[in-house]
Amino acid sequence: MKEHIARKRFGQNFLQDHQVIENIVQAIAPKHSDRLIEIGPGLGALTKPVLQKAGKLTAIELDRDVIPILKKNCANVGELNIVSQDVLTVDFAALFPGETIRVYGNLPYNISTPLLFHLFSFSNKIEDMVFMLQKEVVERMVAVADDEAYGRLSIMVQYYGQPDLLFIVPPEAFDPAPKVHSAIVRLVPHANRALRADQEPLFAQLVQLAFNARRKTLRNVWKGVVTTEQMEAAKINGNLRPENLPLSDYIALTRVLQP
Ligand code: SAM
Repeated sequence: MKEHIARKRFGQNFLQDHQVIENIVQAIAPKHSDRLIEIGPGLGALTKPVLQKAGKLTAIELDRDVIPILKKNCANVGELNIVSQDVLTVDFAALFPGETIRVYGNLPYNISTPLLFHLFSFSNKIEDMVFMLQKEVVERMVAVADDEAYGRLSIMVQYYGQPDLLFIVPPEAFDPAPKVHSAIVRLVPHANRALRADQEPLFAQLVQLAFNARRKTLRNVWKGVVTTEQMEAAKINGNLRPENLPLSDYIALTRVLQP
């Protein structure tokens, strides 16, 4: 009998392919000096091999029922600190205060976008992130203007950091197998972001407004918010659509509206 029946509501698809696990651990490249945080350790498919290399790590897991199995699977491997909480409510600044952290995980796909946005708010503190996500989500993260997958997620992710798609993982690597392909992405936060912190809410708002109606022209999506003169000052052609505008233009427009 299985020790644990995977729960759909927690997005549980456990990694079982040893080669894939090894490739992910290589991508993480854990070191003893790292302050590592794993999101969603589950039964420990990644936790154990990373712990073997790093000696210690902190893991955030919402499902209390997997924790005893996780502890058993990682017993005597290293120092495992478990935070039993919804990752969306975790204050990452309070973990290792004043120090940088590295974050990784085979994420629950149902919360991947809100989780990325939650992590952006701590991006100054994060050295890098290595995540398994639904392949389509990673394709959106790395897309550039005029790509079909380009949208709000591409712009927000690339504003905060540099995403790189490392490799694709097929459904058979998991138990139970998800319906979709997955991909490993590395996300390295920019050391210096293009806007000041006080300009960022406006930037996020402009991007959100634009992609609420991605088929409309920019002139129309920002009607009442951005004037023709402001668009001209940012050198933006109002006849284009949100998906045609590169990140740098959204940044330029924010600077015009809020110097
Ligand atoms: N890391 C394991 C593996 O690769 O086999 C499990 C990955 S599974 C896709 C996602 C894990 O995230 C599950 O263990 C699930 O219980 C946990 N999880 C789901 N929602 C969560 C949340 N909001 N906060 C923390 N963990 C969560």
